[in-house]
Order: sequence, then C-alpha cells, then structure tokens
Amino acid sequence: MSLDPVPLDGSATPTELAVRAGPTVTPDGIGGPAALRVFDEVLSRACISADHPRNLAFIPAAPTRASILFDLVVGASSIYGGSWLEGAGAVHAENEALRWLSDLVGFPAEAGGAFVQGGTIGNLSALVAARHTARARRAARGLPAPARWSFLCGSEAHSSLRQAAEVMDVDPVFVAADGDGRLTGQAVAAALGALGTRGPGPPGSRGAATGTGGDSGVFAVVATAGSTQFGVVDDIRGIVDAARPHDLWVHVDGAYGLAGAAAPSTRHLFDGVGDADSFIVDPHKWLFAPFDACALVYRDPAEARAAHAQQAGYLEVLDRDSPWNPSDYQIGLSRRVRGLPFWFSLATYGTRAYSRAVEGCLATARAAADRIRELPYVELVREPELSVVVLRRLGWSAEDYHRWTTWLLGSGLGFVTPTVHNEETVTRFAIVNPRTTPDDIDRILATMSDGR
Ligand SMILES: *Cc1c(COP(=O)(O)O)cnc(C)c1O
Repeated sequence: MSLDPVPLDGSATPTELAVRAGPTVTPDGIGGPAALRVFDEVLSRACISADHPRNLAFIPAAPTRASILFDLVVGASSIYGGSWLEGAGAVHAENEALRWLSDLVGFPAEAGGAFVQGGTIGNLSALVAARHTARARRAARGLPAPARWSFLCGSEAHSSLRQAAEVMDVDPVFVAADGDGRLTGQAVAAALGALGTRGPGPPGSRGAATGTGGDSGVFAVVATAGSTQFGVVDDIRGIVDAARPHDLWVHVDGAYGLAGAAAPSTRHLFDGVGDADSFIVDPHKWLFAPFDACALVYRDPAEARAAHAQQAGYLEVLDRDSPWNPSDYQIGLSRRVRGLPFWFSLATYGTRAYSRAVEGCLATARAAADRIRELPYVELVREPELSVVVLRRLGWSAEDYHRWTTWLLGSGLGFVTPTVHNEETVTRFAIVNPRTTPDDIDRILATMSDGR
C-alpha cells in the first residue's frame, strides 16, 4: 500500500468496529501479529488521516518525516521529561526549540517555558501563572483579593479559554471583536475602563480601583494570534498598550496562527507579541510536528515557577542545582519530552525550511481565495489573513453542506467540514500542509458546483 500520500480513510460507528475488529482484549491475549493486523486492516482505516493534503477540516496536521521518525525514538527511549536531573539532554534540546520560537516573536534571553499537550493546557497553565502573579502583586501592596477574578479575551477567542475559566473558577469577559473579527486595543481599553481594575497606582500608593465598576478582579488579557475560525490576528500591540497601565498580564494564544511569525509576508501581524507576558503555539498545528505538542513560553519564567512548581519531600532533590525543570512551568509533573520531534525536525531541516513551508501554505491559501473570487457559485466570507479560508456556497442550506462533507469524505477525495458563523452554516479550508496545492483546492471546489 502506498503511504505517499497517506490514504484519507474515514470513520465508523461503534457497532461496525465491534463487528469488524472482534474481541481484542482477552484473558490470554490475541498476540502481537493478530493485534497489529486488526489495527492495520480495521482500526487505522477508521481514523481520518490528519496529514492528507486534502484534509482541510478543523486544523489538520502535517508532520515532517524527520519529526515522525523521531517520535518513534522518543517513544522508545523512556525519557522522563519533568526534571532537568532526569532529562537534561532532552530538555536542553526542547529549550533550543523554544528559543527559536522566542526569537521569532522577540522574547528576551531569559524567557522560557515548556512543551505541554496542547493549546488548551497551554492557555490554562499561562492563565494560572497570570492569576498567581496578580494575587502576589496585590498581597505585596497590601490590597485585598477581589470577590471574583476575571480575564478579558475577544469574542472570537478559542473555546479552550472558556474551559480554562471553568477549571479556574474565574469569569471570562468576552470583548466584542471589530467587523473583521479582531480584538483591538481600543476595545480592550474601553472594556477595562468600564469594568474598573485595580491598577498599581502611583509608586508608594496602595493602588486604587479605577473606572465605574469598582474592582472587577481582572488579572489578564488574552490576545488571539490567529483565530481558529478565520485566522484573524488581534491588534496585539494595541492590546499590550491598553493592558500596561492596569498592570495586567497579556497572554497571546497563537496555538494555530503564531507559526505565521516565521513567514516574511505575515510577520508584521505579530508585532507586539514580544512585549506580552506569555504565548503559546502548537507545533502539531502549523509547525509540522506530530500530535501532541504546544510550546508555552513566559517572558519572566520565575513568575510561572512560583505558580506551578510542586513542593514535596520526594521532589526536593530536583530543585538542587536544577537549571530548568519543565514541570515548574505548567500543569502536570510527569511528562513525555513531546517537544523533541519538533526539535529534531528543526535541527534536521533548518529554520529557513520552516519559513518557506509556512509561506507555502499562505500562498496556497491566497490562491484558494483567488479561485473562490473567480467561481460564480462560491464567495469568501472574509478575506483570509493567514491560511484559513472561509467560504460560502451560494444557495446551500446547512443540510447541503453536511451532505457534501459526508460525500466528499466517502469519496476519498478530501475532508472539509462545515462551520457556523453568525448563525449561518458555511465551510472552511484550514491549510497547514505544504503539500496541499492550488490544484487540490480546485478539485475540492469543483465538487461544490452542483448540489450533492
Ligand atoms: C487549537 C487551538 C487551541 C487549542 O489547542 P489544542 O492543542 O487543540 O488544545 C487554542 N487556541 C487556538 C487559537 C486554537 O486554534
């Protein structure tokens, strides 16, 4: 069977799989060869390949060969990645990769962090550090804790932020994005003014609640660097400037889009990230690494360490002469060195290859937008800013989109899913695979010409 490109494969119901796979977990075992056969012939075919060049659904993946090969090495090596004592060599390599990302956005030399499972855990870890820092700053000034803590983010921010708020039991405040889906510094400044924040006040003072709403307990503002739905980058510079007078932590959620900082044509969109307090970007999204890896980086890692380092007698030894314990910067203690496949790939191909690959996806997205403008039966919902292209098939109902998605996947040609924007069902192409070509896009668009 050819694996180049990989087959797209499909999905299946639990009943179909139970019948096709038969019993696999048995008292005596079915043996490795039989289990592998079930995986090869039944189970793997019921998993859609995220790295197929015509898989444009959600945000797919496109790991490089080097990164996939090295994932096998990581899996086989039993390296414990929580502490420097146990995983020094691997942690050093991960930190090299984090350094490249930090340099891309202009973070200072002392910046650092860790690779975590994904953007959801990355956002949560950063917000926990932000609240911890706000709490400590208030305590240092003799200020009371607020009745409730809250953070601001744009109305098009990722669903994981609501989840983080739920876990932390804080209140997310969604600030309306502008007509292009962008959270602006002006909107953040206005929201902060209306809510009231307890800023540091003049030096030596006890600080004062500002605005009309009293003390709202805002501890952070989250800027999105590439929204999941549209790939829109917030006004990061403006947001940083609006947050600064209020002494607020700015976290940049770049899980998908921050990879665009590696491309010359979009680098300018990320101006201001270097002045934020933390950022995330997922190598498993647009940086060509396998699932799962999110790079989480803090401007001042000491603040994160104060929030996350676990204390116990049996861990005490880890803190002696430890240059860098990744577990100190995120939720969780034991960890796979999940940044290593990304590091190995970067080391193998070089950073210039990354810039070219990201730029290639942008070029394909722009070609897709051009094609959509030419065709009479489709139209762009918004001009693409990064590599997500959202389009409408004129005359289609939600049902038509869903029927087409099922047909397209079943045909083996591609995987493209509907999405809902302003209560309208439309569809989107998320292009993170440098092997996706304008011809792939044309082939998919051609299938939308008639009703399915
Ligand atoms: C995908 C995404 C996340 C969540 O990342 P996971 O790795 O899926 O947990 C968070 N924020 C944005 C903007 C995303 O696109």
